[in-house]
Amino acid sequence: MSLIVAKFGGTSVASPERIKMVANRLIKMKQEGNDVVAVVSAMGKTTDELMSLAAQLSQNPPAREIDRLLSTGEQVSMTLLAMAIQAHGYRSMSFTGRQAGIHTDNEHAKAKITLVHADRIKAAIDQGIIPVVAGFQGIDKNGDITTLGRGGSDTTAVAVAYGIGADMCEIYSDVDGVYTTDPRVDPRARKLDAISYEDMLELSSAGSGVLQSRAVEFARKYHVVIHARSAFTDTPGTLVKEADPTMEQAVVTGIAHDTSEVKVTIRDAPDTPGVAAHVFTALASNNVNVDMIIQNVSEDGHTDITFTCPEADLPRARTVIEGLLGTLKAREYAVDESIAKVSIVGTGMKSSPGVAAKAFQTLADNDVNILLISTSPIRLSMVVKAEQVERAVCCLHTAFGLDGDSVFEEKMLSAEELAAKKQKGR
Ligand code: ADP
Ligand code: ASP
Ligand code: MG
Repeated sequence: MSLIVAKFGGTSVASPERIKMVANRLIKMKQEGNDVVAVVSAMGKTTDELMSLAAQLSQNPPAREIDRLLSTGEQVSMTLLAMAIQAHGYRSMSFTGRQAGIHTDNEHAKAKITLVHADRIKAAIDQGIIPVVAGFQGIDKNGDITTLGRGGSDTTAVAVAYGIGADMCEIYSDVDGVYTTDPRVDPRARKLDAISYEDMLELSSAGSGVLQSRAVEFARKYHVVIHARSAFTDTPGTLVKEADPTMEQAVVTGIAHDTSEVKVTIRDAPDTPGVAAHVFTALASNNVNVDMIIQNVSEDGHTDITFTCPEADLPRARTVIEGLLGTLKAREYAVDESIAKVSIVGTGMKSSPGVAAKAFQTLADNDVNILLISTSPIRLSMVVKAEQVERAVCCLHTAFGLDGDSVFEEKMLSAEELAAKKQKGR
């Protein structure tokens, strides 16, 4: 008998039929003698729809109200799932983030979990109840509802697993595991049986949406083993856990891409000490999350400073830069929204020279122009034009020997859902 946390994402609870499927799966786990706690995301595209409702009423909706609004999505799915389980004669109860004891700081929209007080969930399990917890949300010390960032139900699941001392945190989605790259972009992607926390964290941070990076960070810190698997089939998925000798020892573990960033260039800023400090201090204090930075070689005492940041932060970045241009005596600034980042990830890269040279040559051979580059010991990221990102992913995937023998097959998604997934990855 095991104690299992089972998290179901938006597509897995998108309709009453799918909620019934989830209920059946949970009941089966219970019948097999396990104790199980479910964590759910909002149904289908609910979170996007709620955001667009807010956008119709305010250009800059207050973060507190947005979090309150978005948290309702998960509260709908949690109650429906609890009802579906009860309809089969099993006991179930839904819990909001607050009721499940998920305490966070007060950073609305990207709150961090500070404490998990899981007594209520544990008591429910002891009474034979299947608790259903609303993902993505918590409560700050003022009693206000917070949310954990997009994809944050994964983090709720890991936190609940830690809080109750679960044997396993199962994360069910519309893919049957973690692949060497997004299988919807490159169908020759290969499913991994296991991946280390380090590699997974780097893939998630580089844009691989299959697991939220906060969830992986939390799992690594508290030694929670994640099993990423399909909500539609019983095939075993991918274990995310501490590195061990049985894992593949590849130089490159996978390729991630991220289309959510934009590139900003400040042109002809004076090349004097303190300019970069000035720009990036102002951006940081206005909550602009800067990712890559490059500064050109100075010509005539002037230089260009380029950085990337999430598209969501662009309005704040524009305000900051417009306010600074005069003080800096820079000529102008330009924004490029049609960019994407492709990253090669692998802890094996630490001790293997030549990855960068091979990546640059591969992109050159495939006519993909590199706009920006950044490296870490276990990651190489390159910014390219958005329309070239899929080509970049596929040719790098082949060049680094990651292609599998079989082709990824879609399971259960409707044409509309597939289109939405494609759009999301763009
Ligand atoms: P959920 O809504 O259940 O949380 P997500 O949409 O967040 O599911 O995550 C699953 C999606 O992640 C898949 O549909 C897939 O397109 C995408 N994905 C991106 N990178 C990878 C990868 N390396 N392996 C598997 N899936 C990936
Ligand atoms: N519903 C939230 C989102 O769409 C959280 C989640 O699905 O994990 O981002
Ligand atoms: Mg997700």
